[in-house]
Parts: sequence; C-alpha cells; structure tokens
Amino acid sequence: MATVTGKLKHLPAPDPLGPNPDPWADFREIEVLGLEWTQHYKHSLGKYSRFFLELENRRFFATRCPKCQKVWTPPRPVCPDDLTITGWVELSGRGQVVSFSVLHYAPAMLSFLKTPYVLAYVKMEGADTLFAHLLQNFGDLSQIRHGMPVRVVYNNGPVDHPIMLMAFEPADS
Ligand SMILES: [Zn+2]
Repeated sequence: MATVTGKLKHLPAPDPLGPNPDPWADFREIEVLGLEWTQHYKHSLGKYSRFFLELENRRFFATRCPKCQKVWTPPRPVCPDDLTITGWVELSGRGQVVSFSVLHYAPAMLSFLKTPYVLAYVKMEGADTLFAHLLQNFGDLSQIRHGMPVRVVYNNGPVDHPIMLMAFEPADS
C-alpha cells in the first residue's frame, strides 16, 4: 500500500541545445511524490524448509550423506563433498563451543539484541560441521571457552525469521 502526497514544483533547466526559448517550458511543472511503501513477500525456504519447521516442534535436524555418512549442520540438501542427495537426521541439540565471537555492534536486523552479544560456532553431537548461532544466558563473557557444553534452546516466537526460534545456552556437561 502506498500513501501519496504530491505537490507541483517548478524545476527550470537551461535548454542544452542553446540560447533559444526553452521548448519544454510548459512541462517544467512536475509533481514530486512522497511515497511510503509496505510490502509483503512470500519467501520460500526451499529444500531447507524442514529444518525451520522442526524448530517450531523444538527439534534440531541435520542432513546425512548416504554415501560418505558425513552429517551436515546447517543442513545441506546435497553433500558438498560428493554431490549426493542427503537425508534428514535428528540430532540431540547438544554440542560444544569450538569458537566464538563477541560482537559489540548489532546490525539493523538484530537491533533487538543487547550488546555485546556472542556468536558461537558449535560442533553439535553427531555432526561433522559447525553451526553458528547466538549464545545467550552465558553469564559473564569470561565464562565462555572452547569446549564449553551448550544446548539448543527454543522459543515460541513471534520471530522475524524462523532461525530466531532457536539459540544456544550453556548446558551441564
Ligand atoms: Zn557425502
């Protein structure tokens, strides 16, 4: 939906062809609009859809390659190593921090986050790759360390994107 507010403005311009009278003189009164748009998109998550739908069910899924047995998380519909179509596999939702970043600036889409916030790269139990997501309720930054046990925690939303239905929290080892 657009809200239109318009006014005629007079925008004179010299005739680029020379000193003749402006041939466009009758058309120098132009309307300038202020437009505000609200747009709704239908956005498909495609072959990754089940991962996000299962977050609503508080379940964490990866994909396993039937050829090399590698377990990918975030899920890949096709194994990047051998291009075999993978299958869904549920993981426990537990893992260990392999690396992490402390961020002191939140981009606009994450402006709801209190800074500093922590992005953790987690090796999930049963997975061969790392999954990066927010680590919350970690207490003091000095408590975060390599090998720290974490678990996926879920929320019921509403959220701007289904990936925000989950986060990591410290877990008992
Ligand atoms: Zn493979």
